[in-house]
Amino acid sequence: MKYALVLVNIKGLGVKTFTYLIPDEMREEIQIGQAVLVPFGRQGLQNAFVVGFSDYVSGDFRVKKINRIIDKTPLFSLKYLKLLEWVANYYCCDFVTVLNAALPMKLIDKNAKTELSIEWIKSDGEGLTKRQKEILALLKEKGKCSITEFEEIAKTTRATLKKLAEGGFVKIKEEYIYRNPLSIFKDIETEPLFELQGEQIEAYEGIKAKLRSPNPILLHGVTASGKTEVYFKLIKDVLDSGKNVLFLAPEIALASQLTKRLARKFGIKEVAIWHSSISDGEKYDVWQRLFKNEIRILAGARSAVFAPLQDIGLIIIDEEHEGAYKQTNPAPRYDARIVAKRLAQFHQAPLLLGSATPDVSTYYYAQNNNNLFEMKKRFNNSPFAKPQVINMQEYGKASYRGIISKPLQTEITETLERGQQVILLMNRRGYSTYTQCKACGTVIECPDCSIPMIWHTSIKKLKCHYCNREQSFPDFCPQCGSDALSTSGVGTQKIETLIKELYPEARVERIDSDILTKKNAHIELLTRFQKKEIDILVGTQMIAKGLDNPNVTLVGVLSADSGFSVPDYRASERGFQLLTQVAGRAGRGEYKGKVLFQTYNPEYYAFQTAKSQDYEKFFDTEIKSREEFDYPPFSQIVRLILSSQNNFRAEKSAMEIAMRFSTMTDKFGFSEYLEVLGPTPCVIEKLNGFYRFQILIKNKLTQKGHDFISKFLSKIAIPKDIRLAVDVDPLDIL
Ligand code: ADP
Ligand code: ZN
Ligand code: ZN
Repeated sequence: MKYALVLVNIKGLGVKTFTYLIPDEMREEIQIGQAVLVPFGRQGLQNAFVVGFSDYVSGDFRVKKINRIIDKTPLFSLKYLKLLEWVANYYCCDFVTVLNAALPMKLIDKNAKTELSIEWIKSDGEGLTKRQKEILALLKEKGKCSITEFEEIAKTTRATLKKLAEGGFVKIKEEYIYRNPLSIFKDIETEPLFELQGEQIEAYEGIKAKLRSPNPILLHGVTASGKTEVYFKLIKDVLDSGKNVLFLAPEIALASQLTKRLARKFGIKEVAIWHSSISDGEKYDVWQRLFKNEIRILAGARSAVFAPLQDIGLIIIDEEHEGAYKQTNPAPRYDARIVAKRLAQFHQAPLLLGSATPDVSTYYYAQNNNNLFEMKKRFNNSPFAKPQVINMQEYGKASYRGIISKPLQTEITETLERGQQVILLMNRRGYSTYTQCKACGTVIECPDCSIPMIWHTSIKKLKCHYCNREQSFPDFCPQCGSDALSTSGVGTQKIETLIKELYPEARVERIDSDILTKKNAHIELLTRFQKKEIDILVGTQMIAKGLDNPNVTLVGVLSADSGFSVPDYRASERGFQLLTQVAGRAGRGEYKGKVLFQTYNPEYYAFQTAKSQDYEKFFDTEIKSREEFDYPPFSQIVRLILSSQNNFRAEKSAMEIAMRFSTMTDKFGFSEYLEVLGPTPCVIEKLNGFYRFQILIKNKLTQKGHDFISKFLSKIAIPKDIRLAVDVDPLDIL
């Protein structure tokens, strides 16, 4: 091998690969995954990663030499690159995009932090002063430690210590210091694993018997059925066998909670955490420790699937139905579950998915592969609250401001009187949902996104929830000039206001992504809620997740149908999941829980099944409709979005691509397996000033069809003013 392919992050160009000559003296040492220094035009020396080798270069340009190897320890392996290549191929995007997402490029600039340590060697010798003897005695007692720390303890100077080192009395050495984000859990106390019971034992034994399965295993267990304890037992077995475990949670907050629980059970040294918000320094350190196989359990959010954990013996993905596992923007638009499945196959390790409300496709496959395990009861046997439906067609008029029905008011009052807590779900942020002209009916929309702008009382402005544009409330209708503008619809802020009016004595707080601008605000509120410092918590779906508070006995969903009315094939699934999850927050302890759904649409099937918390029934109905319309799992959807600031240009290029694709599928005999829908304007027609058109491709012949699509996409040329986004297995088609 004469040449190395290196990955460079160039200002203005982004991350790209380039070929460099390997100097003779480096041939022996150079390895894939090493950080190297390379000359790059006028930009001078740049940090780069070695990602491949070759014996020749194409084209006749003068190839520059690699300057030097920064660090001999590689940061990733060839096997790792193979996984990323697979991801690039599956998601129809280029390899460098995946590398860039997977491998924190900042790693390269962030060298390990080193520190000098000092260690005692001997105290007897010629010509030692009394003071020097004191220092040596102190060091002998203290043991090896950081030199700066010791200088402080011994009230001495670097020069004094250096002199002792020269005399061979002490040893001063440069050493790595790992920055472990887990140091916040330093004082955590360990506790033993629980003895599994009842349904847990059956699930555990069943899963154990399936650990060689190349297909994902699903643990479908109702909330608080004790799934996490089953995971822990399996983790213990894997650790005992000498292998490591990757454990994913859908969000950073949940991953942190989980890490704590893992540290308590398995010890702080074994566990590390990985997500997008840990600092670059921490990333660098965790990365190194993973690569050196010093970590046994890695917990994290979606991006942890790309961390270089070695010798994986089990991958667990909890709350697998959560959309957060999929990256929607920017590319690669990967789903951590899909990548994890591939990763598991690489390691010949099982992939275990867990949820109370599994993804319909996951459930379908697990059932067909005989890889489905179920736990139907809560661990402490506390009964599920059967949701009571409040038909707002009947109760609407008599409700407080048409929003909070009488029965819900009564329940809130009674719950507060018992000293218990309430959760109110409103799946929309802001104060009102839209501002409308009463004279001509015009709704004030974001000029860049064709989405109604939402009134936020806290900032006294209209805000677009897609692009964050803010504007003040208009005095006149932009269409007819009338001043009859008013807001209607409801958001979390309005609920908060109304609840405070109704219950002036109660302590009311709100959780939604608007408050998340403050770091940890979410966790802080949940902790206060847990400590009973809040009586009523109002929020979006964020409150439906993970909360385990035995004092919550009332859950009210203010507008239970809002999720179902979205024009998307997964709307029913998402609506069902949300209602089931939020209902599961009530009555988890010894007190009986109550759940109230306010709705205008009580007959809808997904709603009916959510009401009875009957996943199987929901699944049976849903899967039939998926089959009828060829939606996943009966097809794979690839969504192409073409956007441009020029509406006409966007539409034209979408039409051209759709036509070309149809012609090609006909020509190569794929039209039976690949169906092209569109182009149509996206439901959100305009976003951030870009007009959007979508083409949906339904692929029924999975592998061959996929290869065909991926080849087609790699060959099309897109004009400069048009953007193409490819989304394989999109979360929604809005
Ligand atoms: P899930 O993950 O299904 O929501 P968890 O595993 O968190 O459920 O269990 C719910 C509660 O029951 C937790 O407080 C957990 O500690 C407790 N629990 C579960 N299994 C056991 C067990 N075998 N012995 C004692 N407590 C258990
Ligand atoms: Zn008007
Ligand atoms: Zn906007």
